[in-house]
Amino acid sequence: MSKLRYERPVIKKLEGGMPNKFGIRSEIQTVTHIDGNGVKDLIKEYGSPLFVISEKTIRSTIKKARKAFEARYPRIQFAWSYKTNYLNAVCSIFHQEGSWAEVVSGFEYDKAIALGVNGKKIIFNGPEKKEEDLSKAIQNDSLIHIDHLDEFYTIVELAGVLGKKPRVAVRVNMDTGVYPMWDRFGFNYENGQAWDVINKIMHSGKAELVGLHCHIGTFMLAPSAYAIAATKLADLALAIERKYNHEIKYIDLGGGFPSKNTLKGAYLPGTDTNPTFDDFAEAISSALLNSNFKKDNLPLLILETGRALIDEAGFLLGSVIANKRSSTGRRNTIIDIGVNLLFTSYWYDHKITPAQSFTHYTEETCVYGPLCMNIDVIRESAELPLLNRGDHVVIHNTGAYNLTQWMQFIALRPNVLLIDMDEKPHLIRQKETVDNMNGMERVPEHLK
Ligand SMILES: *Cc1c(COP(=O)(O)O)cnc(C)c1O
Repeated sequence: MSKLRYERPVIKKLEGGMPNKFGIRSEIQTVTHIDGNGVKDLIKEYGSPLFVISEKTIRSTIKKARKAFEARYPRIQFAWSYKTNYLNAVCSIFHQEGSWAEVVSGFEYDKAIALGVNGKKIIFNGPEKKEEDLSKAIQNDSLIHIDHLDEFYTIVELAGVLGKKPRVAVRVNMDTGVYPMWDRFGFNYENGQAWDVINKIMHSGKAELVGLHCHIGTFMLAPSAYAIAATKLADLALAIERKYNHEIKYIDLGGGFPSKNTLKGAYLPGTDTNPTFDDFAEAISSALLNSNFKKDNLPLLILETGRALIDEAGFLLGSVIANKRSSTGRRNTIIDIGVNLLFTSYWYDHKITPAQSFTHYTEETCVYGPLCMNIDVIRESAELPLLNRGDHVVIHNTGAYNLTQWMQFIALRPNVLLIDMDEKPHLIRQKETVDNMNGMERVPEHLK
């Protein structure tokens, strides 16, 4: 047995904190391995900080989501939301699992095409679709979700030039009882805008209206909001059928299911309280099956689920730089992970676990990142065991949005690993170098 590490004795004033459901003590456990790979070994080989993505977790999560919906509704299609995590390896796993691509920019559209996604299986959302992007999407028969009338008129014009009949859907925003309402995208249901654009499309004859779409918000904690959205889109689809004898092929309810993260200010951890895929599937399928669709023309149900499918598969590994005391005596721990890499720390109390054994003693700690900026706080207040310089930590549920919204600010972005089904690590994005950054810059002659 190796010699036990010395730990300094501590004397601490007892403080009455707010208990959580486990009492005053924290429930922290050490996490030394990710899918069979030692955290220390990974950091030694690939550096710190380090993003690690678990292929096992991605595949098991999408399977769980599919199972929840397929058990309740006969026609389901997932479309991977690229902006949630568009690393090519990650998108490829979702496409292998049968997901289409859901993109919101020309850049993301080109990425999906480069990955070999069939143009017919790309959903093109978002408020800015440049003419050249729309032309590509029309030529590839992609599904164009119209955001505003200016876009619709451009599509009509391009359809004439290209001699094609684009496949379009209308993005609808609506009151689902969750506020503030997301009404900046698409056309409003309650005030008649959505019905207006539907009539314009149907009368123009220039585009084929194939679907109705909404994306009512993100990290939604109320399955009932989706039931309301599904009912409103079903009503529109049935009204189109009555007036034009035209069948809507799909209803797309967007994304927005919560991951297992804990929102700031929440009393209980997200793992215990956030609704599950089954809860959402039950609400949505009941609403659609209870509407007046006939059995033979039930629309395809598309889901653009993002964060709920990838957050738990992402881990961010880092190291402790130092400990210090604040002016009031609070323990401050500085780690090498800042808000430039962990954008989502603005919204979540991310779970942080030590990667080595520790004493039972914990202390309320503020966890800072390494940036020279006051806002660089990863956790304002976490009950953590004492971490020492050089110790490692694992930050959990970091797979969604961090790898697309990370910033190159005063440092270079780190390596990203994928641990495959056989627990073998693969480097899927190389860390940046100074040459990468300087390579894009030009210094005018007179400044040399
Ligand atoms: C961002 C986005 C999604 C994914 O949202 P999540 O909240 O991550 O599930 C889906 N559809 C559209 C249109 C989006 O903008």
